[in-house]
Amino acid sequence: MEKNSFFQQGTMQMLSEGLLDGTITLKELMIHGDTGIGTGEGIDGELIILNGKGFKVNHKGEGIPLENAFKITFADVHFENYEKIDNVSSIELSKCLEEIKKRIVGTNIFFSVKIHGRFEVIHTRSSKKSNKPYPGIEKIANNQVEFYSKDVTGTLLSYYSPSLYQGITVAGFHSHFISDDYTVGGHVIFSKIKHASVYLQKFASFTQNTPIQNIDYLNADLSDISKLDNIIKNVE
Ligand SMILES: [Zn+2]
Repeated sequence: MEKNSFFQQGTMQMLSEGLLDGTITLKELMIHGDTGIGTGEGIDGELIILNGKGFKVNHKGEGIPLENAFKITFADVHFENYEKIDNVSSIELSKCLEEIKKRIVGTNIFFSVKIHGRFEVIHTRSSKKSNKPYPGIEKIANNQVEFYSKDVTGTLLSYYSPSLYQGITVAGFHSHFISDDYTVGGHVIFSKIKHASVYLQKFASFTQNTPIQNIDYLNADLSDISKLDNIIKNVE
């Protein structure tokens, strides 16, 4: 089984042009990995897959187990083969991730970081599903809900991509979280770690899967990348 590669369904540029159909099921996606993050059809929540089990953090911030047939618009997955690299305490997430990038990995490769432990602060967001015909991306941004929690034990899963891949994926870190009791989670905006174990997995390559059966995707003009940075910051 491939351990130094990850699989991506769709592109971020696709989302920025409102192409939000679910083009792969959870079952099909998990052929390519047992660990990952993503979003459902119509930006249906923030997804996290751990140990071969998929969860959707819905617009109320609750973690809901996913059915095999759940449709996914965008996702990154891989087969877990992390190496423990550190124990950290009393550190902001952004600082912790930057340290890994600076000291251990560099900026030129793809990698995933998994952090499990106690989070002093976890600020996340999720989204309410939009139905077809999908509203503009500004309306979808308004469907985002933010959650603030303190003293939570859980798992944070992050993917790092080099800056040149912005638009294909999310350049820099893209992190999702779920608590061990599945009551807190989502796309991570800010966090401070109380104490946690930090795991790293590097990737030499990735597979980009484009939805070649999807008529809207085939007919879309995806050449304008000017809105991309703003969209990625606010919606996914
Ligand atoms: Zn996200």
